[in-house]
Amino acid sequence: PRTTRTAALLVVGVLTLTAGCAGGPALDEKPSVGIAMPTTKQLRWVADGDNLSEQFGSLGFDVSMQYADDDADAQVQQIEEMVDQGVDALVIGAVDASALTAVLSSAREAGVSVVSYDRLIVGGADVDYYASFDNRRVGTMQANSLLEGVGVLDATGEPTGAKGPFAIELFAGSPDDNNAHVFFEGAMAVLAPYLESGVLVVPSGQTTFEKVATPGWSPETAAARMATLLGPYRAGTRLAGVLSPNDGIAQAVLPATADLGYLPVVTGQDAEIPAVQSVARGEQHSTVYKDTRQLAEVTVQMVRSLLTGAEPEVNDTSSYDNGAGVVPTFLLSPQLVTKDNYRAVLVDSGYYTAEEIG
Ligand code: BGC
Repeated sequence: PRTTRTAALLVVGVLTLTAGCAGGPALDEKPSVGIAMPTTKQLRWVADGDNLSEQFGSLGFDVSMQYADDDADAQVQQIEEMVDQGVDALVIGAVDASALTAVLSSAREAGVSVVSYDRLIVGGADVDYYASFDNRRVGTMQANSLLEGVGVLDATGEPTGAKGPFAIELFAGSPDDNNAHVFFEGAMAVLAPYLESGVLVVPSGQTTFEKVATPGWSPETAAARMATLLGPYRAGTRLAGVLSPNDGIAQAVLPATADLGYLPVVTGQDAEIPAVQSVARGEQHSTVYKDTRQLAEVTVQMVRSLLTGAEPEVNDTSSYDNGAGVVPTFLLSPQLVTKDNYRAVLVDSGYYTAEEIG
């Protein structure tokens, strides 16, 4: 995605205005933030990191950013180093949601503010705020899109009356990522009645989170699992659809089903360029767009408020209990992207250029 000079300038503008008019407290001369991102293997996190550093940078922050290569221990070490450097705040996209309790307790002792970014950090009390998308809604969107794709719902979301049975398979994300659980719960809440009534069937019998999870969100692991599920489909059952929790997994599942000779309906998430191109070609059925520029804006605002003693704006104070209590949260809205609306949603909004989508 193109980064957000305009959005960032807008933020700076609004903040200057607020500070000026209300006489609000100003930031230190050189505030600093440590940004700990989980991985560069997926395009979305690269965009997240770029947006965050640019927006913090334009507010005058000293930014130190590290990617952990999906390695939970490496991330703990990176965060330790940031705390030692004396950052004022941490923004963390966790690799392992529950591996940060100790390091965040030393961050707390050092007076560092902590924002859990996109993924909820669980277990410890030393998380100040959470900024994310409505993750449950991501799951319900994926499930509704799957139902529409296989023909159980029409384009307006109304039941078509089709009785099936439609054979589907389910994939979930990484067990150490709280979001993966929330996506799957959201999706299953929508699919459950159809599974109960027999309109949908899962020939592999694998329907629990534990059975269908994909450790590390690894596309290779998902492709390998898909290959083990093909038996009934090679023998003639039609694979109508696959619930895929994100684009990386969708783009691995699709080729794994190639020798069936037709395309199952496959969902996704993140609106990553290869997936959007696939949606445009009529291959991947849909993806869920989450504007990472907005998430960066919300996060930057939270940190700014925390550092100036103001109260960060939140819109959810009940959904995300991390085990030590509810973490006040700002949730943004995800949006379903299909062949019919990808241009309007992704290109007309300036998230991608027409050339990037190709
Ligand atoms: C994010 C998704 C992403 C997945 C794998 C989740 O926590 O919300 O956008 O696809 O992690 O990186």
